Amino acid sequence: MPESYQAVAVKIEEVSERVRRLHLHMEGKPLTFKPGQFVMADLTKPDGTPHKRAYSIASAPHMGDPLELVVKYEEGGVASEFFFKVLKEGGSFPARAPFGAFVIKEPVPESLAFVGTGTGVAPLRSMIHALYHDGLGPTRKVWLFLGVRYETEILYDAEWKKLAAEHPGFTYIPTISRPQPDWKGEKGYVQEKVKAFLPFIPGMKAYACGGDAMMKDLGAALVEKGHPKEMLHYEIW
Ligand SMILES: Cc1cc2nc3c(=O)[nH]c(=O)nc-3n(C[C@H](O)[C@H](O)[C@H](O)COP(=O)(O)OP(=O)(O)OC[C@H]3O[C@@H](n4cnc5c(N)ncnc54)[C@H](O)[C@@H]3O)c2cc1C
Repeated sequence: MPESYQAVAVKIEEVSERVRRLHLHMEGKPLTFKPGQFVMADLTKPDGTPHKRAYSIASAPHMGDPLELVVKYEEGGVASEFFFKVLKEGGSFPARAPFGAFVIKEPVPESLAFVGTGTGVAPLRSMIHALYHDGLGPTRKVWLFLGVRYETEILYDAEWKKLAAEHPGFTYIPTISRPQPDWKGEKGYVQEKVKAFLPFIPGMKAYACGGDAMMKDLGAALVEKGHPKEMLHYEIW
């Protein structure tokens, strides 16, 4: 059942010109949530009317207080203007949480693919860290495919590399759609990388977050590989 909070910005980190990590202390009752769920920011438009927008929790429950959101700037967007031009460290806004059913389903299968574009990595980060914290990750095959336009927009790159170094079963594949000439990694769209690198393993489940077009292509790619379409759980922003 969602509760009401005052979300206090303990720390604001600039990832790039258009992406910020917000570390929020949720003032109110202790917040319990499942990895993949989101916070509803109850903001106000310049004309005084309510403007509520959803933001996935990027931290896992065991990571505690403050929790983390990653927000992307969309020019002219009411919440975007608030998060990038009004909210400062120490400032706050009203919010409600937790919401959402985009969570890992039980039983957790032996192999899992996570696919995200841009800030769509947020709910996946919560899920993946929870899996490894709960001891479920290390015994499984886990893939993370992340797609962004520019190299500077890859979120949590160092964390994913560390996880891959620590766990042979974790495979991290970032891909850039508008790479600089010196980018040595994968180039192109994330759904193309899934097609190229994700093996077919019966019983595998996929969790994906991103835009509509990516999700359609991803669904088609997975079905083409022989998966039933119900294996894909997703959230479209
Ligand atoms: C379940 C869920 C989880 C989500 N999680 C995240 C997350 O973790 N991180 C994240 O960044 N986003 C997330 N989103 C998206 C988020 O909720 C907002 O939709 C997004 O931040 C844009 O909101 P806004 O108020 O800034 O834009 P809005 O005010 O809703 O505007 C929408 C678009 O219209 C354009 N627009 C509006 N008014 C004008 C104007 N006057 N002039 C020009 N253009 C205009 C804006 O450019 C903007 O692109 C999530 C969405 C859902 C549904």
